[in-house]
Amino acid sequence: DSRLARRMAAIRPSPTAAVSDTLRAMQAAGRSVINLGEGELDFDSPETAKLAAVAAIETNQTKYTPVAGTDALKDAVRRKFARENGIEYGPDEVIVGTGGKQLIFNALLATLDVGDEVLIPAPYWVSYPDIVALTGATPVTIETTSEEGFKLTPAGLRERLTAQTRWVVLNSPNNPTGAVYSEAELEALLLELDAWPNVLILADDIYEHLVYEGRFATPAACRPDLKSRILTVNGVSKVFSMTGWRIGYAGGPQWLIHAMTTLQSQSTTNAASISQAAAVGALDGSLSFLEPRVAALRARRDLAVARINAIDGLRCERPAGAFYLYIDCAALLGRRANDGERLETDVDVAAWLVKEAGVGVVPGTAFGLSPWLRLAYGVPTPTLESALDAIEAACQRLA
Ligand code: PLP
Repeated sequence: DSRLARRMAAIRPSPTAAVSDTLRAMQAAGRSVINLGEGELDFDSPETAKLAAVAAIETNQTKYTPVAGTDALKDAVRRKFARENGIEYGPDEVIVGTGGKQLIFNALLATLDVGDEVLIPAPYWVSYPDIVALTGATPVTIETTSEEGFKLTPAGLRERLTAQTRWVVLNSPNNPTGAVYSEAELEALLLELDAWPNVLILADDIYEHLVYEGRFATPAACRPDLKSRILTVNGVSKVFSMTGWRIGYAGGPQWLIHAMTTLQSQSTTNAASISQAAAVGALDGSLSFLEPRVAALRARRDLAVARINAIDGLRCERPAGAFYLYIDCAALLGRRANDGERLETDVDVAAWLVKEAGVGVVPGTAFGLSPWLRLAYGVPTPTLESALDAIEAACQRLA
């Protein structure tokens, strides 16, 4: 449509939302469907968060707040970074926004010009390249392999660094692969960046605490001397099952936080005051609720990995974190569905699974590595089992 701005050609609608839309339409038509496409856990938000939100409403904390967040939440964020990560940020080195996504958007929009490059290991979270493209800069993807655990290697990074590189994106635990970088792996990557003092590092820690093997590590804690070049992004969406509250936060150098705040002041202003109060309740509350949740997620992961690998045509590794399986579906390509349709791509496989099994997963194309599928196992175990039964039965019907 010629009425749209040219920049709209650079981005696609979120592919995870597309899967959900199809499933909703099928459900409305009376079919029973299971959505394993959404990046969301089935757990409730913590009581501490809910009570803090109710108290905020009752005490009329319902007005504009400072753009970068209330003092109460910024202090809670600083305490969190110090307590859990050993990173000390000053009051002007943290910002609160409407989800981690908005903070990443702000950071990239505030720093990128046409011609700049951002290095993004693939498979990647769908939004990184699109946000970069919206700014007019160029997303440069670096493919990782299943054999390397879907982790960027120092050699892979070295090869793509240029005088145009402005940012390197590191996301651990990773969406969509569940890969978790060890401290030593992060240190080796950061060592490569010593020779490139103008390159910034985006550490997307949104899946912190959802780790089943090994230990979470974050760049600014590994290399405190690089802190002035690192933006550490986190939020309450995943760890606290608070996706709908829309609260993310970030720590970084003052000049960058200041620029992100200026952008935010001309777009969304502050994140919702009630949600900010809830986030204080979450961050200051005990993390003891996580232990049974992590145990449940680990059990679901093990169940799903075993079931997927028992299906002829599908294969996956056992990821160390987050709540996704990245599944190789190459062996299904070329097979025929009942209606004679030949599966040619992971997009075909995902569409066929929706139709044939009533199960939604997201094709790897969306994450920059095909032919794969992302399955999110943040659903109750019986639901997960039904979905796996349906996937298995559908695959057996292929010819
Ligand atoms: N980063 C990654 C890797 C994600 O998967 C997501 C959500 O799916 C986000 C950031 C943003 O989360 P939110 O905006 O809910 O904080």
